[in-house]
Amino acid sequence: MPLNSVLITGAGPAGLTLAQYLKTHHVPFRIIEKASESRLQGYSVTLHFGIPYITQAMGQEKMDGFAEKTSVLYTDVTGFATVTADGEILIQTRGTPTIVGTGFRANRSRLRQFLLDGLDLETGVEVTGVEFPSDGVVIAKSNKGDIMADIIVGADGLHSSIRQSIIGDKVEELTIMNLSGSTHITAEQYKAFAKYSPTHAMVHGTKLPGKEGVANIFFGINDFSKDNNTYHMRWVISWDRALIYNDIPNTNAGLHEFAQEIASQFCEPFKSIVQETDPTSKIWLGKVCQYMPDPSWNGNGKVTLIGDALHSMTPYRGEGLNHAMIDIVQLGEQLVKAHHDEITIAEAIAAYEAEAIPRGKRAVQASYESAYQLHEGFSWLVTRITKLFGLTLYYSGHLPFLRFFFPKTH
Ligand SMILES: Cc1cc2nc3c(=O)[nH]c(=O)nc-3n(C[C@H](O)[C@H](O)[C@H](O)COP(=O)(O)OP(=O)(O)OC[C@H]3O[C@@H](n4cnc5c(N)ncnc54)[C@H](O)[C@@H]3O)c2cc1C
Repeated sequence: MPLNSVLITGAGPAGLTLAQYLKTHHVPFRIIEKASESRLQGYSVTLHFGIPYITQAMGQEKMDGFAEKTSVLYTDVTGFATVTADGEILIQTRGTPTIVGTGFRANRSRLRQFLLDGLDLETGVEVTGVEFPSDGVVIAKSNKGDIMADIIVGADGLHSSIRQSIIGDKVEELTIMNLSGSTHITAEQYKAFAKYSPTHAMVHGTKLPGKEGVANIFFGINDFSKDNNTYHMRWVISWDRALIYNDIPNTNAGLHEFAQEIASQFCEPFKSIVQETDPTSKIWLGKVCQYMPDPSWNGNGKVTLIGDALHSMTPYRGEGLNHAMIDIVQLGEQLVKAHHDEITIAEAIAAYEAEAIPRGKRAVQASYESAYQLHEGFSWLVTRITKLFGLTLYYSGHLPFLRFFFPKTH
C-alpha cells in the first residue's frame, strides 16, 4: 500500500529539506511547525558537504543561483580563517572549509526562504508526543488535536518532543559556554575584518598566566546593506567554564561588561567589534548542548528522527546542518521505496537508522572533541605547526593529509 501520510514535525532546515525531497519524489506528506511564520531564523551557517544532498532534495533545476540566493554576501565568495589573539593568521581557506569540503556561508533566513519555496507549511502546531494505537497508524498529539499518520519524522531539533515522548530528553549540557551578541559595522571596519576572511573567522585567545583554558571569539557576517555601507556581524565568545570564568554575571549589562573584558585580550579589529556593540542590545548566554544518538531509541517501526533531533552536536566543526542533509536523502530514498511498496515502513526506518545512527554518533563525538580542544588553548609548537599547515593549505588549495587530523564523520 502506498504511503498516504508522512508527518514531518518541525520546519527547521532538516524538516523543510525532507519535505522538498518527498515533494520532488511525489510522496504525500504534511509538515507542521510550532512557531509562527515570522520567527527569528538565527544567524549564518556554513554549507559544505551537505550541498549535493540539498540538490537531491530540491532537484537540479531549483538549485540555479543557490549560492547567490542564500549566501551572506549574495555570492559564493567565502573563506574561513583561524587567527591568534594578536592577529596572526594560522589557517586561511579560500572556499569554506577545505578540511571537510568546499562550500559557502549561508544566511539562515534566506536559506529558509529557499527551502520553503512551494511548500504548504502548517504553522502554530506544536507536537507534544506520539501514541501508537493498535490499528497500524501512529498519532502525533498536538495543541491542535491528534494527527494521524503512517509514519512520523521528528525534525523538531535539540529538545525534540517526539524523542522525549519515547525515550526522555537525554540532552547533555556541556561545560562550554557561549556569550553572543550582534552589531552593525561600517564598511571601513569590514575591510579590516575582510583581510582575515570575507565571511567568518575564529580568533583563538591566549592562555593567561595561571589559567588552564582560553576564551575564543567567533565572528561571522550575517548580511550587508544594499548600499554596501553597513555589515551585520555576529560574535560569539566561548570558553570552558570548568577551566576559566566560572563566575558569570546574571544581568544583560553585566554580560556586556564581561564580554568587553574578555575582548580586551584580543587585537583590532576584533576587540572593537565586541567592545563597540550597543551596551543596551540583547546579549545571549548559553550552555553548549549535545544529544548523542541513544541505543534505547525505538520508534516501533513508525517513528524516526532527523537532524538535531537525532544527533545534536557542538558547532565547532560546523557540521550539524550538513549531516541533517545526509539524513534527508538516506531516509527519503527509503520512504520512496516504501511508497512504491518495495519495502515496509518498518524496513525503511530500519535501513535509514542503520546508516544514520552510527554516522550521527561519530559526528557528535568529533564535534565534542573539537569543542574541548579549542578551549584548552594551543601550545607554541602546535601553533607553529598549524601555521605551517595553514600556509601549505593556502597555496595548494587542499591538504588531503589533514584528514588524519580531522577525520571525516560522513
Ligand atoms: C551557534 C551555532 C552555529 C552553527 N553553525 C553550523 C554550521 O556552520 N554548519 C552546520 O552544518 N551546522 C551548524 N550548526 C548546527 C545547525 O544549526 C543545526 O544542526 C541545524 O539547525 C539543525 O536543523 P534541524 O532542522 O534539525 O533543527 P532546528 O534548526 O532546531 O529546527 C527544528 C524546528 O522544529 C520546530 N519545533 C521544535 N519543537 C517543535 C514541536 N514540539 N512541534 C513542532 N515543531 C517544533 C522548531 O521551531 C524549529 O523550526 C550550528 C549551530 C549553532 C547553535
